[in-house]
Amino acid sequence: MQFEAVIGLEVHAQLKTKTKIFCSCPASFGAPPNTHTCPVCLGMPGVLPVLNKKVVEYAMLMGIATNCTIAGNSGFARKNYFYPDLPKGYQISQYELPIAQNGHIDIETNGVKKRIGITRIHMEEDAGKLIHDPSRPYSMVDFNRTGVPLIEIVSEPEIRTFEEAGAYLRKLRSILRYLDICDGNMEEGSFRCDANVSIRPEGTAPFGTRTELKNLNSFKHVEKAIQYEIERQKDVLLEGGKIIQETRLWDPAKNCTTSMRGKEEAHDYRYFPDPDLLPLVIDDSWINELTKKLPELPDGKKERFIAEYGLPEYDAGVLTSALELAGYFEACVKEFNSPSPDKRDKYLHEIIFCQKRAENYFLGTKLVSNWVMGALLGLLNTEGKTIEESPVSSSNLARLLKLIDQNVISGKIAKTVFEEMAETGKSPEEIIREKDLVQVTDVSAIEEMITKLIGSCPKEVADYKAGKTKVLGFFVGRIMKETKGKANPEIVNRILKEKLHQA
Ligand code: ADP
Ligand code: MG
Ligand code: ZN
Repeated sequence: MQFEAVIGLEVHAQLKTKTKIFCSCPASFGAPPNTHTCPVCLGMPGVLPVLNKKVVEYAMLMGIATNCTIAGNSGFARKNYFYPDLPKGYQISQYELPIAQNGHIDIETNGVKKRIGITRIHMEEDAGKLIHDPSRPYSMVDFNRTGVPLIEIVSEPEIRTFEEAGAYLRKLRSILRYLDICDGNMEEGSFRCDANVSIRPEGTAPFGTRTELKNLNSFKHVEKAIQYEIERQKDVLLEGGKIIQETRLWDPAKNCTTSMRGKEEAHDYRYFPDPDLLPLVIDDSWINELTKKLPELPDGKKERFIAEYGLPEYDAGVLTSALELAGYFEACVKEFNSPSPDKRDKYLHEIIFCQKRAENYFLGTKLVSNWVMGALLGLLNTEGKTIEESPVSSSNLARLLKLIDQNVISGKIAKTVFEEMAETGKSPEEIIREKDLVQVTDVSAIEEMITKLIGSCPKEVADYKAGKTKVLGFFVGRIMKETKGKANPEIVNRILKEKLHQA
């Protein structure tokens, strides 16, 4: 029997506000334990929470960016449970009335586009952090994170594969970062995901019983855990067993999920409206104002990269996957097209009148794209660095590409220069000067070398004349060796063919 997976994701994103959601303590990460606390976030008796307007604004921005309807009237509820990291004994959250509902985002896996529904986005406060130090017979608690603002983004159960889950999460994170409202760091916990997974016989409508997977703190873990869980559920069903509704923990060391708690042990949170907080009323003018303020988002930027730079859809998708990468690419294109700052506009203008000139412009942007996606992303990947930490600045890369474009160096030599730039941080001009890498484009010098070479290789010349055109490679190789790879390959090829015909 063929099974199909049904997956819904719950994502918690920590918002990048200066202060916490209901008090004025700093919301920043990394301070000494319990230094970002006050009577409100410590849950002292008699204190009153005051809602941080920035949190509402950020939640609305995410709602608008994901095509949700923003609720004019919502509010907060108390979610009651006991745990040492929760000093009040309840978490303030939105329950029946979330701030945003009924949205969607578009994802793409293996070239196939798909729309995934967003059920709801709601605001809530984070809990504290327990510290279990094996050298002590007790645990400690740090309340710095208590009251840090979160939004929870719940998807419709419309995800069908672990690849779609990965694409959905990456897209959500990219949007949060474009909006500059969350830093999206899964390892540090500012972007967390729980995955709900069930399976059903292919072609049937009712959902199977789901399990909820936790402890997924990287994209890899989310994908591997879902993959494992789908297989586990298949095995259970094929052996005649039943899936039980439970929470399962991903064990990254053993590559499997294990049962954490069943439905019977699930909490009854006894939600009720928080009497300390007023209803939240949002008027249309605020929604309109934020809609206008929305920055260019990943999908829009991708479309623009295709239209404005003539990039293939694939390139545009990679380059706009992160805001900083897109910025690096654009800075690089801009400098590549200097020194005449109006050149870009000129080219764009010429698209209308002369396809050829436009093609030249697009050749330039494609060259930049190739190098950013190839050499640069490869370098960052091997060095484990982010684009902001790139050892090669966009300006140095742009100048290197200009030198290729102007035939000062070949693309091959440029690879060597790029590596040297990455190691030393020096400019391309400096490296080319120091290492004497300027390409030999002097036709008479190349001609002289070729004449000499042909004269000294009568056998190869005869072979060539007899139709073994492969020996052309032998001649090119010898010239390249003699010039240490600096001869312009096009010129070498052209002159070689001429001289061999004459020989
Ligand atoms: P809870 O609050 O108990 O986790 P929700 O109704 O909020 O429950 O659902 C959480 C997530 O589970 C949503 O993303 C939803 O799409 C998903 N989900 C619901 N039913 C199923 C199912 N049968 N299989 C997979 N995912 C599901
Ligand atoms: Mg859940
Ligand atoms: Zn506080």
